[in-house]
Amino acid sequence: MGKLDFIKEELSRLKETGLYNNIRTIESPQGAWIKVDGKRVLNMCSNNYLGFANDPRLLESARKVLGEFGVGPAAVRSIAGTMSLHNQLEKKLAEFKEVEATLSFQSGFVANQAVIPAIADSADDAIITDELNHASIIDGVRLSKAKRYIYAHNNANDLKSRLEEAKEARRKLIITDGVFSMDGDIASLPEICEAAEKYEALVMVDDAHGEGVLGKNGRGIVDHFHIHGRVDIEIGTLSKAFGVVGGFVAGKAGLVEFLKQKARPFLFSSAATPPDIAACIAAVDILSSTEEPVKKLWENSRYFKNKMKELGFDTGVSQTPITPVMLGEASAAQEFSRKLFENNVFAMAIGFPTVPKGKARIRVMISAAHSKEDLDTALDAFTKVGKELGCLSAKYIY
Ligand SMILES: *Cc1c(COP(=O)(O)O)cnc(C)c1O
Repeated sequence: MGKLDFIKEELSRLKETGLYNNIRTIESPQGAWIKVDGKRVLNMCSNNYLGFANDPRLLESARKVLGEFGVGPAAVRSIAGTMSLHNQLEKKLAEFKEVEATLSFQSGFVANQAVIPAIADSADDAIITDELNHASIIDGVRLSKAKRYIYAHNNANDLKSRLEEAKEARRKLIITDGVFSMDGDIASLPEICEAAEKYEALVMVDDAHGEGVLGKNGRGIVDHFHIHGRVDIEIGTLSKAFGVVGGFVAGKAGLVEFLKQKARPFLFSSAATPPDIAACIAAVDILSSTEEPVKKLWENSRYFKNKMKELGFDTGVSQTPITPVMLGEASAAQEFSRKLFENNVFAMAIGFPTVPKGKARIRVMISAAHSKEDLDTALDAFTKVGKELGCLSAKYIY
């Protein structure tokens, strides 16, 4: 036995069970149509909700800043000083989000690693977390010494039972995704806040799929529910609707001041690059001035989802532009995705461990960059492949 044999074995096991992830290569900017593995295909799987990833205004802002600030920050902000550019983004984001302050991170994933262990840093603390929370929350929780309590997905009653169990804890931190990334359902945040208020728990929401999507002009889930001031910690990403890469936390000025002293990815890892930050500033400026892209995104989503339902596809419990097409076994979803690609539609299959076994799906991501013709092209391809594979007549049992 070679000492690396376990790698080979694990890889062949993944291939046999249809769980091996073939990563395709993109040779163009993001947009409605992209070049993938040498072929021009309709893009139905990126998180480029508003089409900002290749928006000329973001590109121009990124280009302009190169002359003023160069390409890299060359340091950790707390050690060698922070660029005025990062401060500018954080101020603009705070105004946009209608909070006192924000702090940017290198990614949304990192933002969770930064915030969770800083807030819940003792075995006397408790973290109460939704069972379907994103991997970056799960890993953030693993970095904390706090005791963990997992509540049934989006179930406020179960949350209350866990809060009751945890009521002796020093600090209690409830964490939920805002929009659940695999199913597209929205957390019942007002009920969660109510439970939190009763037990004096902190509420943290990771709004990665809600930023730029939910609320007025894409201000996110707190604005969507009109519960400003009741959520203590908001995590956002700049890598999805904002079209760039990065993450942030939004909340009270004191929270941000605390994180600048305590959050390890802020203290020990370099900041995002000037072009990234400049492009994000342009994205915030656009969203602050017009609701057009967000409106277009929702029009497209409604159109596509209604048509898919009419065709007989099961799109699950989605309330957002995330449109899962439920197909059962991972191998069925992979076959479906392959056939779509043959028909020039790029939509990836998602299986275990990202979603539970037997709940594999194609996850269609709608964008404001899609035209109505693009959506019709996708619908035609889904119809054709669905008939070929017998998914439109057969009932799936998960
Ligand atoms: C995508 C996502 C992240 C990660 O964001 P990045 O900026 O890509 O690191 C974090 N949390 C949730 C809920 C997400 O959906």
